[in-house]
Amino acid sequence: MRRGIGIDRFITNMNTSLIQQFQTSIVILTSDYEIAFANPAFIEESGYREEELLGKKVNDFFMELGSISENRNGEIFIKTKSGEVTPKWMEINHFSPANDNHYIGLILLDVQMSGVDPLTKLPNRYFFYRYLNKAIKKAGVEKTLLALFYIDLDRFKFINDTLGHSYGDLLLKQASERLKRCVGTKNLVARMGGDEFIYLAEDLRDETDVDDLAQEILNSFSAPFQLKEIEIYISPSIGISMYPYDGDEIESLISNADSAMYRAKRSGRNKIEKAQLDVSAGAFEKLMVENDLRNALVKNELLLYFQPQIDLSKNEIVGMEALLRWNHPELGIVPPAEFIPIAEESGLIIPIGDWVMRAACLKIKAWMKEGQRIRISINLSAKQFLQNDLAEKFQQLIDETQIPPELLEIEITESMIMYNMGSATDVLNRLKKLGVYIAIDDFGKGYSSLSYLQKFPLDTLKIDRSFIFDIDSNPSSKALTQAISNLGHALDMKVIAEGVETSDQLAHVEKLQCDVVQGYYFSIPLTEDEAIQFLINFKGAK
Ligand code: C2E
Ligand code: MG
Ligand code: MG
Repeated sequence: MRRGIGIDRFITNMNTSLIQQFQTSIVILTSDYEIAFANPAFIEESGYREEELLGKKVNDFFMELGSISENRNGEIFIKTKSGEVTPKWMEINHFSPANDNHYIGLILLDVQMSGVDPLTKLPNRYFFYRYLNKAIKKAGVEKTLLALFYIDLDRFKFINDTLGHSYGDLLLKQASERLKRCVGTKNLVARMGGDEFIYLAEDLRDETDVDDLAQEILNSFSAPFQLKEIEIYISPSIGISMYPYDGDEIESLISNADSAMYRAKRSGRNKIEKAQLDVSAGAFEKLMVENDLRNALVKNELLLYFQPQIDLSKNEIVGMEALLRWNHPELGIVPPAEFIPIAEESGLIIPIGDWVMRAACLKIKAWMKEGQRIRISINLSAKQFLQNDLAEKFQQLIDETQIPPELLEIEITESMIMYNMGSATDVLNRLKKLGVYIAIDDFGKGYSSLSYLQKFPLDTLKIDRSFIFDIDSNPSSKALTQAISNLGHALDMKVIAEGVETSDQLAHVEKLQCDVVQGYYFSIPLTEDEAIQFLINFKGAK
């Protein structure tokens, strides 16, 4: 006897019928949504034994059951015994054989391959969008909490570029295995492309559930990955958005989780960050900041801080990075991360950037007058980099202030070059012709390929702070810093380690032959007055 269900003639017929031989998965449910019959194709696919399936509620094995209860064909997900989620196209048929009970027959067809990522076998982004759409509607009706975890593997790109695609693919497969292992019955993990995954959790009670899950995902990466003969530690950066707090549609939820993920990366990787309401703040607040920013220019509220860069072998200060601050009348000193994104969005970054360029040149000149010949580096935004007259602007400033161009360094990021390959060569060559130095900032953050380095006239390579951050505890950070340092030297570039805070980190970067060090260990960013005092008082690093 099958538990819980009487043996209907209909089911008995099924068990002896041709359906047994179908390659397509077929499941028959009672009107109470219990499994009355499963053909061998489904049994094999589910990974369960027949007796584990029969008589059980269908929601133990399927996700997204809305379409069954609404009685319409559509997508559904089989949850296999090993925890995998397989998307299927489901067709529903009803049977009411004479004198027998009512049955619901499900024919489960493979969705087009386009719904599945071939490498990891996870649902792909297109599939995920459709799934999320339904999940949002369901959560809206049931008044439950949804959480979206946007997961990006730290330094994946770098590993892919240095070790090769076969290692990269292996890493992606192993990472998806680990993510799948965190999947509970109500969750889904999908590959968004590249090294990005989204983990969606439904039916959550409160934020503690969200925090626990995030921690579980993070923990699943604590053991090293074995990529053929290489053992490597890879951490994820996780950004979280929640329905209904951070958005009530696909786009806002994904983009808020995505920007939280970038914040996690910026704050040093292997981190969890939640979407911030103020970042995705309403247009009104943005407008307020924008207005204040416009005024900031007029009222002269912008200022530069300076952070010393120390050459370890020469034992001297070789440069100062100019870091922008906004002295807000009510908020006090505001760091760039809080207003540059708004400046970029509104276009204000151009006049603000012009101000920075001029202020830096004037400072070079002022310090020269005090007998301090020191190079100042300034940071550029993507929008500034794309200005046609950028080189002319610098030329004019150099002419006007009469500073030696080699005392000016321009910091750009990998992504600025990567997204503008065509024009970047031209812009950089024109800048280089002026005699200024060019640096790649935040190198290794992992957005680009390495081959571009030799194509451009670059002088300095600044290793991203996140590598230095755990250089004494994470062997792969150390190995990658070593690799970047070697690469920079091979291409005749000066290598700067950013974010050196401790003497241990200093010892490591020195051993890895980084030429120059910048970070709190020597000094935090200083006001103009403090900076000149630092220059005068500096007696050497050792
Ligand atoms: P960045 O160019 O990578 O600058 C280094 C950042 O790391 C600075 O943050 C600096 O204060 C911080 N830092 C330096 N040493 C350490 C350390 O030892 N530990 C830690 N935890 N942090 C350290 P800041 O000043 O907040 O600037 C953030 C970013 O804002 C800069 O990153 C740069 O991308 C951007 N930025 C700054 N000034 C300008 C500017 O004038 N124009 C543009 N477009 N962007 C700017
Ligand atoms: Mg910089
Ligand atoms: Mg940097």
